Amino acid sequence: MALRFYNTLTQQVELFQPLDGNTVRMYTCGPTVYNFVHIGNFRTFTFQDILRRWLRHLGYKLNHVMNVTDVDDKIIKNAAKEHKPIEEYTSVYTKAFFEDAAALRLQQPEHVAPATRHVDVMVKAIEELAAKGYTYTSDGSTYYRISAFPDYGKLSHNDFGGIRAGARVDVDEYDKADARDFVLWKARRGDEPFWDAPFGAGRPGWHIECSAMAMSYLGETLDIHAGGVDLIFPHHENEIAQSEAISGKPFARFWLHSEHLHIESQKMSKSLGNFYTLRDLLEMGYRPEAIRYLLASVPYRKKLNFTFEGLKAAERSIERLRDFEIRLTSTKLAPGRNEVVSERSRDAIRKFEESLDDDLNTAEALASTFEYVRAMNTALDEGQFQEENRWDAARVLEIFDEIFDVLKPGEDARALAGQQAAAQNGKLSDVEIEARIEERTQAKKSRDFARADAIRAALQDRGVVLEDTKDGVRWKRK
Ligand code: AMP
Ligand code: ZN
Repeated sequence: MALRFYNTLTQQVELFQPLDGNTVRMYTCGPTVYNFVHIGNFRTFTFQDILRRWLRHLGYKLNHVMNVTDVDDKIIKNAAKEHKPIEEYTSVYTKAFFEDAAALRLQQPEHVAPATRHVDVMVKAIEELAAKGYTYTSDGSTYYRISAFPDYGKLSHNDFGGIRAGARVDVDEYDKADARDFVLWKARRGDEPFWDAPFGAGRPGWHIECSAMAMSYLGETLDIHAGGVDLIFPHHENEIAQSEAISGKPFARFWLHSEHLHIESQKMSKSLGNFYTLRDLLEMGYRPEAIRYLLASVPYRKKLNFTFEGLKAAERSIERLRDFEIRLTSTKLAPGRNEVVSERSRDAIRKFEESLDDDLNTAEALASTFEYVRAMNTALDEGQFQEENRWDAARVLEIFDEIFDVLKPGEDARALAGQQAAAQNGKLSDVEIEARIEERTQAKKSRDFARADAIRAALQDRGVVLEDTKDGVRWKRK
């Protein structure tokens, strides 16, 4: 069987091949750099990494673009609070994102596109939409008129028959059932950052950012567009409306969406305050490979419930594989090759490949690998494993690790956490400290005292002392 993906657009599992048979042109929505991203976000980025690696294993070349949203309402607000230009504010979190991604062994996309460096292509896209009659202005802002795009709703499979023409929304996220004209260009306000454009000074909305950059790097029709399920509506629906209005062609052939990471049966999210960053987990002494393994272990279209038990189980699973690897290289074996063992190894590779071809079924790929390791340990115990079988088994582990990449020991987690802290001069900004205190308050509210204590300890390590008073939490720098 060949490679298949579930396509959100058609709601079907479909055979996948890049349009030109050779290079996969792929766009993924990247982080908004107003804070540290959490491991829920990294579940989505890890899925995209497994996707990249599997496509490459199959021999395809990749042209993968990921944006970095480095201007939006939250960024502007937080930067103003700290009296910093937005670039200075976002550069800390952009750098942190790529450090975390490297610790999780995520391959870098071929192009990383910060929004603020591509405003010219967004302006051009808005001008094209205006020329075709898809826009209108109000109070200096430009909006997309969704009633002009009859296919609106085809990705989220919502019927927007009763669209209220002219109802508008300025924010980037809005209610599920409620389709509204969305902002393409926000008029300049006060002393907020702005760019000049023929239709007035202002800044781009989030949705046009992805459409314009995707088309400018990858052309009118992409092979794959991916993101978390929360982006299906409105973000990706709006991207389709913009791009297809401009080009008259399908924007992306395959839409892949990953389910959320949950914690205690709730979506992990910044706004709920129920999240861990990679740094939190590294500071607690967990290893990045184990976190990567856990995030990759559940097929991307299933919800993943984060627990510390699961993280510990991931550590043990990696240990089992590493022990097998050591046993393979250190055991003295009789010369020759046992054909039964060789066939079992080829079968393990076949099963692994079939699982990943099946819409990236990582759980099955792992299950078949462990089944194989168990059988080979028995073969070793019983003396059936011979000298030349080493190479068969090494090949199985090599293909496994090409995708999962957890076997090579990483740097010590605490050292890595320490380096990451040092990279920021060990100093947290006031906004970061307050955000962490808020997280701790939320953790206490939900009676997660271990997490509350971990946050206090982490702050203490970074030179910030908390004091609980009857009027709330006070903090000071040591
Ligand atoms: P953001 O920085 O909020 O734009 O999110 C970056 C990516 O993480 C997007 O693809 C989101 O869909 C995804 N995401 C956000 N929360 C979660 C979660 N709890 N689990 C998995 N992915 C998530
Ligand atoms: Zn996007």
